[in-house]
Amino acid sequence: MGGRKPAGPLRAGEEVILVDPKGEERMITLSPGKPFGTHKGNLLHDDIIGKPDGSRVWTAMGAQYRVFRPTFNQFVMNLKRHAQIIYPKDIGPILLWADIFPGATVVEAGIGWGALAIKLLEAVGPAGRLVSYEVRQDFASSGARTVERFLGTCGNHEIKVRDIYQGIEERDVDRVVLDLPEPWHVVPHAAEALVPGGILLSYLPSTLQVKQMVDMVGEGGGFTEPEVFEVIHRPWHVKGQSVRPVQWMFSHSAFLISCRKLS
Ligand code: SAH
Repeated sequence: MGGRKPAGPLRAGEEVILVDPKGEERMITLSPGKPFGTHKGNLLHDDIIGKPDGSRVWTAMGAQYRVFRPTFNQFVMNLKRHAQIIYPKDIGPILLWADIFPGATVVEAGIGWGALAIKLLEAVGPAGRLVSYEVRQDFASSGARTVERFLGTCGNHEIKVRDIYQGIEERDVDRVVLDLPEPWHVVPHAAEALVPGGILLSYLPSTLQVKQMVDMVGEGGGFTEPEVFEVIHRPWHVKGQSVRPVQWMFSHSAFLISCRKLS
């Protein structure tokens, strides 16, 4: 299993986050001899390579940047993405409400851009296992690449190019986490795949989908009544005398719906 072992000076080939004087972030791959162009002159990659994480660096015209190894949040928020990802504000609660634990066997669908997959792999740890179902070959490949960029090669991660609406092959699965449009098709398969007491968690943007999912879970029996909630993240602006919530916030992503398999 791969893993992050960030230590020592920043190396050529590593992805780093540059934070400009206004706090804007850019993710770049450090390459010897390469400049990073800014409107305040170039910043040379060679001036960054070999510096400690968290260093200050200067452009030719003296603008000060900061350079960091990306945290998970910085990595996913700065990815050039072609698919919707689950945002960090929701990934944290998903790990807790799906109760992802070290050693767990987890099935997720689909992998998309791989943001959730990274945190599921970190949470199950080397003793656990993640199987990602993904119906599109292109997303299976890009998801795999993103996971590898952040975690390295993970021997306990399998990606299956399959439609999970057609079934789950695994048995004795501890947790099933779904981020796809019609998760109700997966409920009977999850009922077969999950261990008694196992958890099924879905992530759905619209209330109509939530209602359909909750009705489906209730219909067949076999699961506890779902818990449904959304996560609101309200950043604050704290500068000088201005100490207040920010004026504009990202108000909605999706609802979380979780239930447990009965024996
Ligand atoms: N959770 C991911 C984003 C997933 S986007 C992340 O955090 O990055 C939703 C993905 O589900 C898409 O890649 C889509 O191709 C896939 N998908 C949709 N229906 C599916 C199905 N029936 N079986 C497997 N994957 C499916």
